Amino acid sequence: MKSAVIIGAGIAGIAASIRLAAKGYTVDVFEANAYPGGKLSTFDLPNPAGENYRFDAGPSLFTLPELVNDLFRLAGENPADWFRYIRLPEICRYFWDDGTRLTAWGDTNAFAEEVERKLGEPAAHIRNFLADSAFKYGITESLFLQDSLHKAGTWLNRRALNGYLNLPKLGLFGTMNGANQRTFSHPKLVQLFNRYATYNGSDPYQTPALLNIIPHLEYNIGAYFPEKGMVDITNALTALARRLQVRFHFGTPVDRIVVQNGKAAGVEVRGEVKRCDVVVSNMDVTPTYRKLLPDQPAPERTLKQPRSSSGLIFYWGIRRTFPELDMHNIFFSNDYRTEFDYLFRRRDRIYEDPTIYLNITSKNKPDDAPAGCENWFILLNAPANEGQDWDTIIAETRQQVIRKLSHNLGVDVGSLIECEAILDPRTIEARTSSAQGALYGTASNNRFAAFLRHPNFSSGIRNLYFVGGSVHPGGGIPLCLLSAKIAAQWA
Ligand code: FAD
Repeated sequence: MKSAVIIGAGIAGIAASIRLAAKGYTVDVFEANAYPGGKLSTFDLPNPAGENYRFDAGPSLFTLPELVNDLFRLAGENPADWFRYIRLPEICRYFWDDGTRLTAWGDTNAFAEEVERKLGEPAAHIRNFLADSAFKYGITESLFLQDSLHKAGTWLNRRALNGYLNLPKLGLFGTMNGANQRTFSHPKLVQLFNRYATYNGSDPYQTPALLNIIPHLEYNIGAYFPEKGMVDITNALTALARRLQVRFHFGTPVDRIVVQNGKAAGVEVRGEVKRCDVVVSNMDVTPTYRKLLPDQPAPERTLKQPRSSSGLIFYWGIRRTFPELDMHNIFFSNDYRTEFDYLFRRRDRIYEDPTIYLNITSKNKPDDAPAGCENWFILLNAPANEGQDWDTIIAETRQQVIRKLSHNLGVDVGSLIECEAILDPRTIEARTSSAQGALYGTASNNRFAAFLRHPNFSSGIRNLYFVGGSVHPGGGIPLCLLSAKIAAQWA
């Protein structure tokens, strides 16, 4: 029986363990933390009375649930016996400081009509945009997402031919912002759809219009929420992996990948070598080369690509409920372009009027907060960690967030916070080894970015594979799951 070692139990590492076990490998997963999931994990925060708030630590938006279901089916299991989720009737509530409020309904016709009613933008513009998003996604999915970009077979099949024929329509040559300005006349709608660049940590004023495929996932396929919280994606898949005899070793960091005769031959853990036929790294690709393969040539051009944005997260226990809020809420900056200028060019701090994402899982899972309270997860886009003065940035940004939310909600939000935890680019890096605390690996701020991501295998070291948000096809739960599928295909 062939054996595999996986470095890291992030969502891509867990998915890879399932796929390799299903192929007949014996699989050991070594995880530095005491828990699985990496960014996709959970924690409890008590209030002064000792009552608990539960928070999902990282991801809050769940799209493409079929990619999770595929793993259960691969193992011969019925997904619904293991993992349940709901489709959200409302995708997001949007707020602007001038009092404008807009609901992005899961029903696209209802959304299009709301846009026409509130902003005067013809409903047809939304419908056409989402149809185009679906068309582009159809081509991109088969060409860029489901296969390796670094194997000749990907470029020589019929799907690829279809892709070449439609290349001019994909929007590789203009920016997302440019395309959205041509599509929509209302600046608030341009801003709303520009926001999707942040779903992979990029800048709408630089990223190619091709990223306008992202709204297709949310609006046409749907935004979802697991009944037991986002962490249940991790928990259910870890349980499935265990069912397939995958062995997890928590609190056990891998120190080195052992290479012999140009082949990955095992890993070194606490001074001992664990031999295997295949090594899969779910550690960010940069520290994989720098720390685990210090004597091997590293792909410097790939590792020097600019990082995606990171995040500053405030987890607040709020002793009140807000009917005007839903599970996903956005409070937009009045100057989106300047906000991105700070994120990707200046990078010394967070813009003073930041866009605030507020997620409240207790809206759909009431036991996540004490009665009459809400668990607020507040995410600000932040530059990747370059040693900025984060303590000062956090203190300043906290005040700006309280001011903006208080203005929009008409109450002093600061006085309602009864307990708090904070995650910043430094702690994201420390807890998951993500280079510079980037949420999505490298940024997609130019049209070649997809080709500059590290492939899912090593071209220099045989039997070494890579999965996770820092490699092809990219960051975010769905793409991490696809990275495991591509890597396992070649192992
Ligand atoms: P990671 O989660 O980065 O985990 C890697 C694991 O490897 C860690 O557990 C780490 O401890 C372990 N490890 C590293 N080095 C070693 C070693 N040497 N030995 C042993 N173990 C090691 N995505 C979405 O789809 N939707 C969202 O709404 C969303 N929001 C986000 C919000 C936040 C605040 C964050 C932080 C991320 C968000 N993302 C979102 C992105 C998403 O979380 C990530 O793309 C995805 O979870 C990354 O998974 P991964 O498999 O690459 O590994």
